[in-house]
Amino acid sequence: MDQPGKITKDSNGELIVPDHVIIPFIEGDGTGPDIWRATQDVIDGAVSTAYDGERKIFWHELFVGEKGFKKNGQWLSEEALNEIREHMVAIKGPLTTPVGEGIRSLNVTIRQKLDLFACIRPVRYIDPVPSPMKHPQKINMVIFRENTEDVYAGIEYASGSEEVKKVSAFLKDQMGANLPDNAGIGIKPISPQNTKRLVAKAIEYAIENDCPSVTLMHKGNIMKFTEGAFRNWGYEVAIEQFRDRVITEDELYDTHDGNLPEGKIVIKDRIADMLFQQVLLRPDEFHVIATPNLNGDYISDALAAQIGGLGMAPGANVSNDCAVFEATHGTAPKYAGLDKVNPSSLILSGAMMLDHLGWKVAAALVRSSLQTAVKSGKVTYDLARQIDGAKEVTCSAFGRAIVGHMK
Ligand code: NAP
Repeated sequence: MDQPGKITKDSNGELIVPDHVIIPFIEGDGTGPDIWRATQDVIDGAVSTAYDGERKIFWHELFVGEKGFKKNGQWLSEEALNEIREHMVAIKGPLTTPVGEGIRSLNVTIRQKLDLFACIRPVRYIDPVPSPMKHPQKINMVIFRENTEDVYAGIEYASGSEEVKKVSAFLKDQMGANLPDNAGIGIKPISPQNTKRLVAKAIEYAIENDCPSVTLMHKGNIMKFTEGAFRNWGYEVAIEQFRDRVITEDELYDTHDGNLPEGKIVIKDRIADMLFQQVLLRPDEFHVIATPNLNGDYISDALAAQIGGLGMAPGANVSNDCAVFEATHGTAPKYAGLDKVNPSSLILSGAMMLDHLGWKVAAALVRSSLQTAVKSGKVTYDLARQIDGAKEVTCSAFGRAIVGHMK
C-alpha cells in the first residue's frame, strides 16, 4: 500500500492529491462529534465504492474548540492553523464561541488567520425536502461571499465613546459630514484587491463547472464608493483576466441579440434588493453570485430557506492556498450527544471537499445517495417533522442508510 501523503501543488498552482491522502479534521463541539462520525462514514464509503479501494483518506484530527481547550489549554492553537496551511484542505464541524475568553468567534478567527477570503455556499434543492417555493428544483446557485472586509472588518465605535467623539469630530469638522448627535459609527471598507480576488474565484468556479452566468450583487446605487466600486472592480477583473471566456450583459444584448455564445459566461450585476426579488421569481436565471460580506450573509440564508433551511446547506471558506469545508449551522448544544441531529450539512460539505480534491465520482455518489436516503422517508427529526409519512431515525442511522444506498 502507498504511504499516505499530503496534498501538494504543481507549478501552475493545481492540487496534486495522492491516492492515499492525509486530511485534517476538526470534530467540532456540541453535536459536532455526532455529525462528524456520520460524515466520516459517508465520505469513506463513497471514496471506497467510487474507486474500488484504490483511493483512501487518512483522517488526521486537530484539537480545536472545547477538545483543544481540554487537551492543551488552547481553543485554537497556532499549531492547528499551521497543520491546515500545510495540508491545504481541512474539514470541520461547528465550534462553540467561548464566552468571556476575548474571542469574537473561533470560526471568524480561523477565517481571518488563514485569510480564507471566499465563503462558498452552494444552494441546490434536494427532492423531497419541503420548501416554500412552487418549483424549488429551479434553484441551483453558488454564492461567493467576501469574508474579510465590508462590515465583517468589525470597525465600529459605540455611541457616547471617546473613540466615536474623535471620529465624529473628524467627519464633521474636516469632511463636512452631517451626523446626528450620539450616533454610533461603523466603517465599511471595500478594496479593489480583495474584490478582484473574490470575483476571480467566482469566475474560475463558473468556468470549471460550466455555469452560464456570474452575477455581481451590490447596493451600488446608494453606496457608490464601496458597493458600486465592488461592481466596477468585478467587471474589471472579468475583462482583465478572463476576456476570452466572458461577455458582459451589455455585450450579450448589443452584439448577440441576447443569445449566449457557446462556451461563454455572461457577467451581469444586480442591485441587492432587486436580486432578492429575482431569485424568488426567476431563480433559474442565476448560477454564481459574487457579493460583499453583508449582502452575502443575507442572500445565503434566504436562499437556504428557499430549498428547505440551513440544515441541508453546505459551505467552505477558501483562500488561494487552502480550503476549509464546514457545516453552516452551529453546535446545537441542546442535542449534543443524543445522536439526533441531521448530518447533511457537513456531509454535503464533504462532497464539496471531494470535488475540490478532483474526486468527482465520489462527490456525486455522496449527493445521489443522500438524496435517495431522504426520498426513502427515513430521516432525522428535523426533516421527519416536515415530510408527511416520514419516519425519524438517528443521526448515525441516517449516515449508515446513505452508505447503504451506495451499493
Ligand atoms: P445552532 O447551533 O445552529 O442551532 C439552532 C437551531 O438550528 C437548533 O436548535 C436546531 O433547531 C437547528 N439545527 C442546528 N443544527 C442542526 C442540525 N444539524 N440538524 C437539525 N437541526 C439543526 O445555532 P445557535 O444555537 O445559535 O448556536 C449554538 C453555538 O454554535 C454558539 O456557540 C454559536 O456561536 C455556534 N455557531 C457556530 C457556527 C460554526 O461553527 N460555523 C455557526 C453558527 C453558530 P430546532 O431546535 O428547532 O430543531
